[in-house]
This record gives sequence, structure tokens and C-alpha cells, in this order.
Amino acid sequence: MSDTVERIKCLIIGSGPAGYTAAIYASRADLKPVMYTGMEPGGQLTTTTEVDNFPGYPEGIDGPTMMVQLQQQAERFGTEVRIGMVTAVEFSDEVGGIHKITVDNSTQLEAETVIISTGATAKYLGLPSEQRLRGGGVSACAVCDGFFYKGQDVAIVGGGDTAAEEATYLANICKKVTMLVRRDEMRASKAMQHRVTSTKNIDLRYNTEVDEVLGDMVVEGLRMKNNQTGEKETIDITGLFIAIGHKPNTDIFKDQITMDDTGYIKTEGKSTKTNKPGVFASGDVQDKEYRQAVTAAGTGCMAALDAERYLAEIGSVEEVTTSTYN
Ligand code: NDP
Repeated sequence: MSDTVERIKCLIIGSGPAGYTAAIYASRADLKPVMYTGMEPGGQLTTTTEVDNFPGYPEGIDGPTMMVQLQQQAERFGTEVRIGMVTAVEFSDEVGGIHKITVDNSTQLEAETVIISTGATAKYLGLPSEQRLRGGGVSACAVCDGFFYKGQDVAIVGGGDTAAEEATYLANICKKVTMLVRRDEMRASKAMQHRVTSTKNIDLRYNTEVDEVLGDMVVEGLRMKNNQTGEKETIDITGLFIAIGHKPNTDIFKDQITMDDTGYIKTEGKSTKTNKPGVFASGDVQDKEYRQAVTAAGTGCMAALDAERYLAEIGSVEEVTTSTYN
């Protein structure tokens, strides 16, 4: 058995649009990136059907195809994509220090720079009928899927800023939006609440929860329950949007990387720098506000540029290459 530990110049954790864009830029800058895909290769977009809002695809593209193409593009420039899960990290506090990484609880690696792009996972209610109809009318992204319900009746669950924003977004496209808030008040900011209450085709229901999503193959209706009175009511809808928050995939970085109180990684100013030298974060793992494929891709690019500059500063690459920029 060899006791030599593999040393990687640029390790990318996660394979969504942020990770692959970082990989494209890092490989073009000759950082010889190695990517570990995680448990869901391709990330959240692989669970989406049509992506209609990524620039450059006039006819739209389905999520899984887009992720395969991003992988091919990254591999064309030399990225090594490995199926595997980073299960532990020990980041150095020193500039130029080596970061220790464990993959699949067994393989040890060393990395000069690490780009964290592990994304976030949408929360669901956990009801069997909701899980069965995911992709059949149950969605966690109004901006991605709302268009398919143009002129139809839909419902949205949640009372935070996301739910409020998505409810008003849907109200522009759909005939009627029933909004279910589980308490007698919304968590959303006052301004967002005002937008909801002043939108005529949003039917706001407080103290209301989903009892069951109705339909065999696709959503046909919703049985709601008032959690104060126990009263149930059934409405006809074709789409149900769950907007009860996201969980950033940052558990393995706890106690090492500075995060906000909801677990999103904090980055320095406009950069992708974390509190550890040589460790960068891009995509939804550091962005709870925009969460779009195109914004994730943008920060992936930034993370690769930040990694390249860092490696140049510590003398690990000769200079910042121009190839990165064209
Ligand atoms: P939040 O955690 O802020 O809100 C989640 C909402 O979902 C709450 O109303 C919560 O109810 C409800 N909820 C949670 N679990 C359930 C459940 N099982 N059943 C029914 N309802 C449930 O998440 P958001 O995604 O809305 O926002 C995350 C962060 O991002 C916030 O800090 C927000 O301010 C920010 N954001 C900012 C935006 C902006 O500034 N434009 C846009 C979008 C997000 P309860 O209140 O009872 O817990």
C-alpha cells in the first residue's frame, strides 16, 4: 500500500452550475482541477425538467442535458470529474497551507485550494402525496417552473420572503394563487407582505396547512386544513409550489468555515473568499437570495479566478494567465 497522499492544486466540491463553471475556468487556467460530484451529480438542475431562463438556449434545455454538457465542457479543458462524496475536511489557517480532505470516509487527499460548491437543498413538507407528485406538478422553484402553469390555478406553501416573492411572481402568470401560511402571520418582511396582500389574485390563508395533494400522475387538487379549527377544504389546482426554505449543504464544514446563522457560507465582500486562505465558496451554498443557475455559474467563475490569483500570490502558479479571461 502506498503511503503517498495525492496533492491536488484545485479541488472542486460539488457538481452543479457553480462547480462546473469553476472547473471550466480553473482547467483553462491550467490549475488541473479535480471535481468530486457528491451524491447528486449535476445538482439541483438534474431534478428540473425544462430550463428556460439560462441565457444562450433560445428553445430552452432540459436540466439533466445541460448538466451533461457542462461536464463535457469542463472535461474538454482537462477537469477530472470523480464520482465521490467529500465526507470530512481539515482546512489550514495558514496562507499557503495544505487542506486535508477525506473522500467517501476512506481516501485521504491534500489540496492547495478548495472551491466549495455543494449547493443547497430545497425543503419539502414530507407528505407522501407531495413526494409522489414531485415533477408532476409539485415544485420547489416558481421561477423555474411557474411558466408551465400560465393562466391556471396554483397554490404555494410558506410565509417567508421566498414564498412571498414567488407568490407575487406566480400571480403575474397564473389565474389564481392560493397561499398557505401555517401561522397567523407571515415571516416575510413587511414590504414583501404588503406586495402579497395588495395582489388581487393571491388568496392568502393563515393557519392553513396541506392535508393532501390530490392527483394520481399529476396534481389535480389540494386538500387544505385549518390548524385552528380543523376544518378541511379542497380546491382545484394544477401546480403546488413549496417555498418553506432551503438547507445549505454545509454540515461537513461546520466549525471550520464562517457561516451565517442559517448555515450559508459567508464570503468576503464581492469575492468568493471564505475565512480560510485558499478556500472559496460559490453558488447556492453562499447565496440564499438569488439561487439561480446563472448566478451560481457567475460565482463559480469568480471562485476559479480567486483561486488562480491566490495560487499566483503564494507562488504555486507562475502568474495569472490570460487564457482565463477569453
Ligand atoms: P424562511 O425560513 O425565511 O421562511 C420559511 C417559511 O416557510 C416560514 O414562513 C415558515 O413558517 C414556513 N415553513 C417552514 N416549514 C414549514 C412547514 N413544514 N409547513 C409549512 N410552512 C413551513 O425561508 P425563505 O426561503 O423564505 O428565506 C430564506 C432567507 O432568504 C431569509 O433570510 C429571507 O429573508 C431571505 N430571502 C430574501 C429575499 C429578498 O430579500 N428578496 C428573497 C428570498 C429570500 P414559520 O414562520 O411558521 O416558521
